[in-house]
Amino acid sequence: MPLDYQTDLFTAQGGDWVAIDPVCKMTVDEKTAKYKTNYEGKTYYFCAPGCKVEFEKNPKKFLKG
Ligand SMILES: [Zn+2]
Repeated sequence: MPLDYQTDLFTAQGGDWVAIDPVCKMTVDEKTAKYKTNYEGKTYYFCAPGCKVEFEKNPKKFLKG
């Protein structure tokens, strides 16, 4: 599994690794994700534009540490 996946932002689902929307915690298939953003060198995936906007307003609110 890629190094990037060693975070709480991915989970195994049906033998595949899927991203977790950090805002609403829904799972998002990164291969088909329309909404994504890059923050501090990592890519985050979102289920909807609203989640992306929320994240970009205040990323730290949704990230650990
Ligand atoms: Zn979402």
